[in-house]
Amino acid sequence: MRRTLSALVLFMGIAMPLIAANPGTGPAIQEDPFGRMPNAKDKDGKVVVGPPITAYTLVNKNGLTATILNYGGTVSKFTAPDKDGKFADVVLGFDKLEDYLEKSPYFGCITGRVANRVGNATFTLDGKAYKLAANNGKNSLHGGKAGFDKRVWRADPFLSGDGPAVKMTYTSNDGEEGYPGKLYCMVTYTLMSDNGLKIDYVATTDKATPVNLTNHSYFNLAGHGSGTIKDHVLHLVADKYTPGDDTLLPTGKIDPVAGTVFDFTKPTAMGERLDKIKADPVGYDLNYVHGMKKEAYPKLVATVTEPKSGRVLEVLTTEPGIQFYTGNFLKNDDLKGKGGAAYNQYGAFCLEAQHFPDSPNRPEFPSVILKPGEEYRQTTIYRLGVKK
Ligand code: BGC
Repeated sequence: MRRTLSALVLFMGIAMPLIAANPGTGPAIQEDPFGRMPNAKDKDGKVVVGPPITAYTLVNKNGLTATILNYGGTVSKFTAPDKDGKFADVVLGFDKLEDYLEKSPYFGCITGRVANRVGNATFTLDGKAYKLAANNGKNSLHGGKAGFDKRVWRADPFLSGDGPAVKMTYTSNDGEEGYPGKLYCMVTYTLMSDNGLKIDYVATTDKATPVNLTNHSYFNLAGHGSGTIKDHVLHLVADKYTPGDDTLLPTGKIDPVAGTVFDFTKPTAMGERLDKIKADPVGYDLNYVHGMKKEAYPKLVATVTEPKSGRVLEVLTTEPGIQFYTGNFLKNDDLKGKGGAAYNQYGAFCLEAQHFPDSPNRPEFPSVILKPGEEYRQTTIYRLGVKK
């Protein structure tokens, strides 16, 4: 089935954007089948037929596209022009649902209920200790064994005043993956007319619980599968970071980046200082601090430029931290992605806007505890442009 909604009138009267390649036919949303979840058994042993997964492709008035799956709220494609108007898909992903189910290193997904690491897979809240699944050595990573990335979300596509959009909703049960409280989550993706993919998160709970959501897109601005990101130039606003131990768990300190290989306050190539990093595997995998509280409105925190294509990615967020990761663990040469592309170490980078890792165990970090009656809110924008 293929359904296209278009609304030419919505964007009339808006000034020409930065990128004006292949204007196409106006904003649209296309739905394509993307396989079916495997059948499961309910508690009485009855077979439950796996729900269908759909790929929602948002097309903005400039011809950029972002494809989102209702499996994990995964951004599976993001196409944008280079300085000569040539389009490429700039995120890593798979062509088949089975590959996402079997071997995805969190490509493009929503991670939660708590993104990144929770130390010793445990935390204490209001005097009660909660035990989580240890799925990363002794720690819990990205929400546990079946985090939000592995869940089927309800999807509602719509054309908003800002551009084509899809709203994903998921209710995480009380006790799911060890976390307290029934958590209702809504994540809306909008491909805006200024070429930003805006991700708005809202969550509410019926019991106090930690919540820290992020998007885990792996970018390569020269195009997915086109080699390493070592030449990509990164500029980060953050002048501090949270140092980690040898399991990448924050020690609790917040240190200045000045004088370290982690300093990107001046634009620097991602590969320039890789050989000076003492880590196994070598590479960037750390949380940067640009604030100590959530902002009311997203602010620019990161800019990445790929010199050959001229593509530029800007990251704007309300979150106080951002995890910068250079695909250090992509060491498996057998990891074949879309169109058979080989995804190797340093083949992509992630900039995951979030609260700091291990926040549930770190009273010195900004709190991630959501209480009944409160609303968790986050807005993060990945905006693509070009530098001629
Ligand atoms: C973490 C990495 C991890 C990657 C994929 C990142 O957020 O910081 O350590 O390997 O996600 O799971």
